[in-house]
Parts: sequence; C-alpha cells; structure tokens
Amino acid sequence: MKIRYCWRCRTDVPMLDSEEGKIASKLLAEGFKESKRQRKHSPENFRKLLDYYKDLTGYEETNPNAIMHHFIDMYGPDCENCGKPYRTETATFCPKCGNKREI
Ligand SMILES: [Zn+2]
Ligand SMILES: [Zn+2]
Repeated sequence: MKIRYCWRCRTDVPMLDSEEGKIASKLLAEGFKESKRQRKHSPENFRKLLDYYKDLTGYEETNPNAIMHHFIDMYGPDCENCGKPYRTETATFCPKCGNKREI
C-alpha cells in the first residue's frame, strides 16, 4: 500500500500494490456473487473487500467501486517534477505541472 494522488478523486488516497490488488479483486468478485445470490446490490455484500481495505490502509471506504481504481498498477510512475503519478504507464506529460516526461 502506498499513498498516491488519484486523478479521479482529486486527492491523495491509499493505493494497493499488485499483490494487494489481486486479493482485492478476488474479494470484489465474491461480493458480486453475493449480490447475485441475494438478488440485490448492497455495499454490505462487499463487506470483506471493504474490511480488507480498511485493515490495510486504516481508511474506511464505503464504496467498493472506489477501491477498484486505487491500484498502483493502473497508473504511471511519479512525475519527476511534482511527484504526482502520471495518468498512465505511457503518458508523455504530467497534467498537473506540465512536465514533459523523458522516456
Ligand atoms: Zn480515486
Ligand atoms: Zn508533474
């Protein structure tokens, strides 16, 4: 887990590394199964995922969908100039400070 800036949330959030992401994806899939079984979609069905995220980060997230875009692997490395992550692995400039990335 690492605190990184999220472009969608526009704030620093705890992001999961690839190992943690694998576990989170599995718990998310279980949540969807639970929703299917109960024939209703409720955040309670994703309790395991939300608890896992909380244990890991200390952050009480209530929206399972928010966790699913907080994977470190989904974004590029940190900008050399301002430290915010590039939006993608192949991005050529930083939208925050306009820094051109040397690839
Ligand atoms: Zn976010
Ligand atoms: Zn930057």
